[in-house]
Amino acid sequence: VNVTYIPHVDEQKTVKGFFSLASDISDRKAIERMKDEFISVVSHELRTPLTSLHSALKILATGRLGTLSLDGQQMLAIADENTERLVRLVNNVLDLQRIESGKFTMEKQACNAADLMIQATEAMQPMAQQHGVTLATKPINIQIWVDSDYIVQALTNLLSNAIKFSSPGGTVSLKVECLQQSQVLFCVHDEGQGIPQSKLESIFERFQQVDSSDSRKKGGTGLGLAICRKIIEQHEGKIWAESTLGKGSTFCFTLPVLHG
Ligand code: ADP
Repeated sequence: VNVTYIPHVDEQKTVKGFFSLASDISDRKAIERMKDEFISVVSHELRTPLTSLHSALKILATGRLGTLSLDGQQMLAIADENTERLVRLVNNVLDLQRIESGKFTMEKQACNAADLMIQATEAMQPMAQQHGVTLATKPINIQIWVDSDYIVQALTNLLSNAIKFSSPGGTVSLKVECLQQSQVLFCVHDEGQGIPQSKLESIFERFQQVDSSDSRKKGGTGLGLAICRKIIEQHEGKIWAESTLGKGSTFCFTLPVLHG
């Protein structure tokens, strides 16, 4: 049941009391659950044929089965790029579904923040080079209590966005610092195109992009930040973005420090 409180205000604008409006939302919840299950089943069923399609395209591209004309090679590159996008989308949908379902447990353990930062930056180095972007990091030894695979996933999602939305010659930096109140703060900063203030919160929702053509132009799925938010929330942390249009963006998240 969803309960909404509506204030009852008299002519002097004094609040005299509240009306409460209770509505039964079990049908809506059931429909949402069915929709999530449907998306999950479809994505799961798509994954196997997509993976074999992707492998077949990769073999064709090697030229071992015969040489393609220049036009043929271009067609193959387009097919390959779009298959990769679909694989990413399906994997992202399944990731988000898995995290949201609460059916899995995060395997939290003591980790060194520096190790996770090095893992994430090493993984993103080839993409940075491809885009002509310098990837800089200042790893600091701080012990945190996290599921390292998921935190590395959140960091690589943020680094990949930062690289994607940077211009060649730009720098993307990853920093960590210890805050008061037993928190560590991770920040991924870029010097890219920036994000309008009005979109700084909505981009953390599923399929929300500043420019709806971003998914086509930049190969995104619109799910990366929604996944990051879920991962950080599962660690009792907070995630947010700051930005100046035309100057760049900073994505920050906090995590609790390990004591004792
Ligand atoms: P996508 O797969 O589209 O990158 P995300 O959920 O990761 O999906 O990001 C959502 C949107 O937020 C992006 O499409 C883009 O419009 C915006 N965005 C995210 N990171 C950045 C960034 N570093 N600079 C500029 N825009 C960004």
